[in-house]
Amino acid sequence: MKKYDYLIVGAGLYGATFAHLASKKGKRCLVIDKRNHVGGNLFCENIDGINVHKYGAHIFHTSDKKIWEYVNSLVEFNRYTNSPVANYKGHLYNLPFNMNTFYQLWGVKTPAEAAAEIEKQRKKMEGKEPSNLEEQAISLVGRDIYEKLIKGYTEKQWGRSCTDLPAFIIKRLPVRFTFDNNYFNDKYQGIPIGGYNVLIDKMLADADVKLGVDYFSDKESFDSMAEKIVFTGMIDEYFGYCFGKLEYRTLRFEQERLEIPNYQGNAVVNYTEREVPFTRIIEHKHFEFGEQPHTVITREYSSEWSDGAEPYYPVNDNKNNTLYEKYAELAKGCENVIFGGRLAAYKYYDMHHVIGQVLQIEDKI
Ligand code: FAD
Ligand code: UDP
Repeated sequence: MKKYDYLIVGAGLYGATFAHLASKKGKRCLVIDKRNHVGGNLFCENIDGINVHKYGAHIFHTSDKKIWEYVNSLVEFNRYTNSPVANYKGHLYNLPFNMNTFYQLWGVKTPAEAAAEIEKQRKKMEGKEPSNLEEQAISLVGRDIYEKLIKGYTEKQWGRSCTDLPAFIIKRLPVRFTFDNNYFNDKYQGIPIGGYNVLIDKMLADADVKLGVDYFSDKESFDSMAEKIVFTGMIDEYFGYCFGKLEYRTLRFEQERLEIPNYQGNAVVNYTEREVPFTRIIEHKHFEFGEQPHTVITREYSSEWSDGAEPYYPVNDNKNNTLYEKYAELAKGCENVIFGGRLAAYKYYDMHHVIGQVLQIEDKI
């Protein structure tokens, strides 16, 4: 008999959720990660009382009661509601696109006036099914918002022209004709009290964890330790890039501690003009209503992924999705391996999607 029922490659949210559900069923799990901490991209570093989201701002949101109850059974959530502000050439606009934004841009005061303005600006798109992000954005909110709040930000974020990007990316953002700055439409939202590490540590409490080890450095020996493998790394790497490399976007985080209590008055400020090199500034204390005398901010820069960098965002355009399908076919033939999470599924999953994916296969664990 092997020492473990499951070898879980990756201590991110997928791996940790899987380990938690499996441990509850009495399964013996070994979780390994090449990073020197657990939590994957949710990991927070506590800097003098401020939980710093080391891999970018993470706000938990879901409309699924089962997922919300599941995470709340492990940690309590605060009442944080994400309401980013956009800075375009020194002017501030509320996000997502709502009556506050329309008023700030055009001085319109009623939903009817705002709708008429957008209608005028999207005339060109009439009768045309949007086939890329630019067309989708113009058809949702008109050319003005596209030019000021979407085009520059998106091209920095993805390193591609908006005409070469899939429409679904912009559909993530709500468009509302009410004065409501909540970035999400979901029923439930918040940040774990004490930060994400509390959640992950609870999930991994009954599993063995080994950090700082790359699965591929000794794949055979790791495989021999467990009956089944759960793989949450890059699917193309798993198959030795045999069909070629999938593309990802990576991020560089420039962190700064400031000896002032409040730098920007909001957790997230997006810089939407092309000329500012970073996409956003995060002020971490505001996720937890911190009152420390100091603050920590992070500027986020986006660039193309290359070997050695962290792959943060899959680039789900047609070319990459087609390539991914070829790897997914190979994965189907690996009966002993479960492929899950953002990198193995090559999908733009949020945290609730990832937990949902594991809950879906709970019965099979
Ligand atoms: P990951 O967190 O990437 O975990 C995978 C783990 O596997 C990593 O720790 C990695 O080191 C490890 N690994 C990979 N290969 C190997 C190997 N060969 N050997 C050993 N270990 C390996 N979602 C939200 O719901 N709300 C948000 O506000 C939000 N904001 C985000 C902001 C940013 C900047 C990013 C990048 C993502 C954001 N997300 C957000 C998405 C969220 O981060 C993901 O849904 C979630 O982290 C995915 O978990 P995962 O376990 O699939 O992947
Ligand atoms: N976006 C934009 N302007 C903004 C914020 C977002 O154009 O101020 C677009 C951009 O293309 C981005 C997408 O909307 O990639 C999704 O935004 P979201 O905030 O969901 O991105 P994430 O938090 O996943 O980086």
